[in-house]
Amino acid sequence: MLIDLSRVLTHEGKQEHLEIMPEGQAFVCELGEFPYVEKTPVSLVIIHEENQILKIAGEGKVSVWIPCARCLEPVKVTLDIEFDNEVDMKLSDEERVEALDESSYIQEKELNSEKLLHDEILIRWPMQVLCKENCKGICSRCGANLNQGSCDCDTADLDPRMAVISDIFKNFKEV
Ligand SMILES: [Zn+2]
Ligand SMILES: [Zn+2]
Repeated sequence: MLIDLSRVLTHEGKQEHLEIMPEGQAFVCELGEFPYVEKTPVSLVIIHEENQILKIAGEGKVSVWIPCARCLEPVKVTLDIEFDNEVDMKLSDEERVEALDESSYIQEKELNSEKLLHDEILIRWPMQVLCKENCKGICSRCGANLNQGSCDCDTADLDPRMAVISDIFKNFKEV
């Protein structure tokens, strides 16, 4: 959603209250695609503090499914979104980038709420997600989820069914 900032910029003290919603069904970034558990709005307040300086504050929660780092089962992760940014609209887009202001979600006089929310989610992205502290992960050989019981890989080197097949191959060779 593109929010026109020109109205709030006309007078000091002007405010706008909005609700922004993640777009699409999943959060998409370099790490992959993570479906939203449920979409709830994040409230956004834009205040023209003084002299073309905007305070842009938001509060809300975003819940996504992130695969467990060990067993890959989806884990519900809720990120608390809370931010309070100050943007000097007297500066040009380029000048703000140079000042290491991370408000690249503003272009000209428009605020891209999707980009703003995306950046705020990414900042809070967890380093590692586990379904539980002691997740046993998956077997590297057969891919079985070891939380649901052990597989045969660690008990026998060769599955008895595989042994039959290897016998067949042996016989075939001898013919
Ligand atoms: Zn796990
Ligand atoms: Zn296995």
